[in-house]
Amino acid sequence: MSLSSTSFLTESLDPTEMGSEFTAADARFCWLDQGVLSIEPNQPSELPAAILTVGVHGNETVPIRLVDHWLRELCAGSTPISRPLLILLGNPEAVKIGERFVEHNLNRLFSVASADATAPECRRAVTLMGWVQQFIERHPDGLHFDMHSTIKGSDQDRFAIIPDACQGRNLNNLLSWFKHFRVDAWVQNISPAATFSSFTANLGYQSATLELGQVSTLNDPIDRFLPLVDELNRLAYGAGGVCEHEPTGFHVVREILKSEGEFDVCLENFVNFRRLPMGTLIARGAFEEWRIEQEGDALLFLNPAVPVGHRVALVIRALA
Ligand SMILES: [Zn+2]
Repeated sequence: MSLSSTSFLTESLDPTEMGSEFTAADARFCWLDQGVLSIEPNQPSELPAAILTVGVHGNETVPIRLVDHWLRELCAGSTPISRPLLILLGNPEAVKIGERFVEHNLNRLFSVASADATAPECRRAVTLMGWVQQFIERHPDGLHFDMHSTIKGSDQDRFAIIPDACQGRNLNNLLSWFKHFRVDAWVQNISPAATFSSFTANLGYQSATLELGQVSTLNDPIDRFLPLVDELNRLAYGAGGVCEHEPTGFHVVREILKSEGEFDVCLENFVNFRRLPMGTLIARGAFEEWRIEQEGDALLFLNPAVPVGHRVALVIRALA
């Protein structure tokens, strides 16, 4: 079997032959598990490896379709792949039903706490962590892009969240790929989280969660994202090189966690990155209220529908 006779998406949702291998673009493709495709170049270069993950949330279809498109092109092309790649479809069961998740948000489960749990997303997190760990043991130097789409609209169409574990590291390689991917903004997170990108960052990778536009259906056009296919090709073949695009950097001022008891989000018409006036009331709990403390601060990922103790929003500020 090859990817030209099927597709990454189709094969990830309904696997036919696990463990099957084929050769394309002077590299060995191997389906290690459902939605887990490893690509090892026959003639490896000195380039760091790359892990690309999509469909961690089942309804975020733009990155899934983009990677599906890219892999077909990669297999059909004649340019040899020169860096090891691991491509993962995070949550096939959620993709099948077109939902963010089946029982639990997979992107909060990449931690040892999932090891003893029986819920489907916990089992999946354990499986993915196992394959990723094996890959990173073989290729300790690498990049990880976990590609998503936002629930709500955004003033920055494409943006990246850099996990806490990457703070203080030289991230030049990661930042140069942000430019190639036309990322408009990046945000340095400051608190540990059990996200997929945090997991790989803790294993030494330069990692990021990439948000590519807003959630859309499988039938919505993805034309505006297709130039990214060329950049993914560039990633597979070689080094980044120079790119003029310059994203804006932000840092997290604080994280709003859902408190016990009464909790109301007071902000209407929320948009990611929209600058807000000082004093704007964000949310009110039984004993506390949260306001914008500095003119121009903005919010990310505002979502009242989370369990107690989980993140309701991040308050962010542009770097001076
Ligand atoms: Zn997502």
